[in-house]
Amino acid sequence: MNIVRVALDLPLPRLFDYLAPNCVESDVGRRVTVPFGTGSRTGVIVALAAASDQPDDKLKAVTEILRDMPALPAEWLALCEFCARYYQTPLGEVTSFALPPMLRRGKLPRMKKEAAAIAASPTPTPEPWSAPALPRLMAAQQAAVAAIAGIAGFHTLLLHGVTGSGKTEVYLRAIDAVLARGGQALMLVPEIALTPQLEGRVAARFPRAHIVCANSGMADAARARGFLEALSGRAEIVLGTRLAVFMPLPRLQLIIVDEEHDASFKQQEGLRYSARDVAVWRAHQLNIPIVLGSATPSLETFHHASTGRYRMLELPERAVAEAMPIVRIIDTRREKLQEGLSAVLLAGLQQRLERGEQSLVFLNRRGYAPVLACPPCGWISRCQRCAVNLVLHLADQRLRCHHCGFEAAIPRACPDCGNVDLLPFGRGTQRLETMLVERFPEARVLRIDRDSASTPKKWQALLATIHAGEADILVGTQMLAKGHDFPLLTLVGAVGADAALFAADFRAPERLFAQLMQVGGRSGRADLPGEVLIQTEYPDHPLYRALVDHDYVRFARAQLDERRIAGFPPFSFQAMLRAEARSIEQSLAFLVAARRAGEAVADGVTLYDAVPMRMQRLMALERGQLLVESTSRPALQAFLAAWMEKLYALKMPGGLRWHLDVDPLEF
Ligand code: ADP
Ligand code: ZN
Ligand code: ZN
Repeated sequence: MNIVRVALDLPLPRLFDYLAPNCVESDVGRRVTVPFGTGSRTGVIVALAAASDQPDDKLKAVTEILRDMPALPAEWLALCEFCARYYQTPLGEVTSFALPPMLRRGKLPRMKKEAAAIAASPTPTPEPWSAPALPRLMAAQQAAVAAIAGIAGFHTLLLHGVTGSGKTEVYLRAIDAVLARGGQALMLVPEIALTPQLEGRVAARFPRAHIVCANSGMADAARARGFLEALSGRAEIVLGTRLAVFMPLPRLQLIIVDEEHDASFKQQEGLRYSARDVAVWRAHQLNIPIVLGSATPSLETFHHASTGRYRMLELPERAVAEAMPIVRIIDTRREKLQEGLSAVLLAGLQQRLERGEQSLVFLNRRGYAPVLACPPCGWISRCQRCAVNLVLHLADQRLRCHHCGFEAAIPRACPDCGNVDLLPFGRGTQRLETMLVERFPEARVLRIDRDSASTPKKWQALLATIHAGEADILVGTQMLAKGHDFPLLTLVGAVGADAALFAADFRAPERLFAQLMQVGGRSGRADLPGEVLIQTEYPDHPLYRALVDHDYVRFARAQLDERRIAGFPPFSFQAMLRAEARSIEQSLAFLVAARRAGEAVADGVTLYDAVPMRMQRLMALERGQLLVESTSRPALQAFLAAWMEKLYALKMPGGLRWHLDVDPLEF
């Protein structure tokens, strides 16, 4: 046994063998530096072997086995292997992604003295986790806590409850029980900005617990330190965004995924994994319970809960506010809107101003206007690299592509005909902001979107302003829809929502419903009831009607009926092969060849035609896609494994790139 199998971060679906005369069994899971080509690389030893398929004289020796930190446990390697298999991604790319960048490079962070002794894995003696003044649980919370506590082994539980129904309180009780047993708990949240808020609450509840955060916004060294603390067993609670699902936790006893429906749990590049789905697999592997929480569960999760595969726990009432916000539909078909706002909404804003309460106008489109146009000649601002319009940003006088980042100055005159009267068409958050400032000169208007909150620091500052009551009218995108509490907010107006009703993406209504429900859930509390006004030209649409009644279940069932008839997920399983090249012909030719290669091994799967993507051109590349579908997940998985081998062998024109997206969320 003097050969090590090494996972290297290379786009090749194989491991690399190296001679390691001094290696021992406990080196599996250690990082190792090896010579590769003319340079050197760091990888992870995933196995030892007595012999290699490679001829002995071709084998090179490792440079160094890094024994400066504990080996990554078998459970962690198994998790990476699952992801590699399931998402058809080379294992070395997975292990590399799952490690914090510093550790990936073969380095170690400087540790505080007490933490430096990480070779041993001390199990902390359980302390009494007494916490300050716990609220008395409501009956439904009590039942949920008891249900979680009563689970021995693996089970997926769906905690379904609206914002403010006390889900977090249930999580905290469940974590408490885990800590009392000396275990570790992992909690995933969809957004970096939510981690400090949550950390504060968790730290206040468990003042003596060792809490570690993990998200991509952290400094390299801090992330690596957190990883090592988790690995050594010192960390008792890990809070983080999707990448935290890869934290090594030797005594993990509970996983919580909050806002489990959130699309940001699915990574859209590189390793295209769903942290929620990986978390469920991990819980299964460790034989521990996992709790998925949401006010608007994903239809996949809701379907599993309805069929009994997951256990449903309902929190039907709010813990603090007496009632849910009142949702009203404003029919805008016959009204002349003022810059997109109805008289009812404007009056509502005025009233909140007079009462010193906050309002939010929700518009999921940033920028001033989606396009700048020259009516006489028909010119419109287009991105030269992508098949989309350049968005007008008046705040800093630029035209911007929201897809590739291209930007340019606003032209003084039409580039085609010289006309100087160029007009913005449509409406974004900046335009609404401008209008509201003019209309309510005494109000403090605050815009919250990816432009105004471009860094976590700016985002935190905006949140602080809102919490301090130093803003009257907020104008914001879906950034505001996620998990933040705004106690002074009593009115939410949703404008421009109709676009999502008829979008080509079959998941658009699901997303819209969740967003409106979430954004509405921001408003109101016991002494300040909330109101939600939805402007629409389709006042009778079942989606809006379900919102009025706060009836997620009715909406979900109707959607699932449609999906069943159409054969969409969760009634089928999908994978998308995408290709991009300098010309669409090249992309499509590759996909056609891929389809032909796939047909030879297709059993129980459907391969659709290769088509240009809806947004065909991106960053000067022409993109095509090919959908594969099956009613059986094992059949799809078996097919993908066989297909990948063929895909790697296909001839490709220079510059063509492809990737496979398993369980794609975007079409
Ligand atoms: P969610 O996570 O569902 O939005 P939270 O757990 O954050 O709900 O609860 C919302 C608010 O209600 C919080 O301020 C929380 O402290 C409070 N709360 C939760 N459960 C109770 C309870 N049983 N009694 C009193 N207050 C509660
Ligand atoms: Zn572009
Ligand atoms: Zn013109």
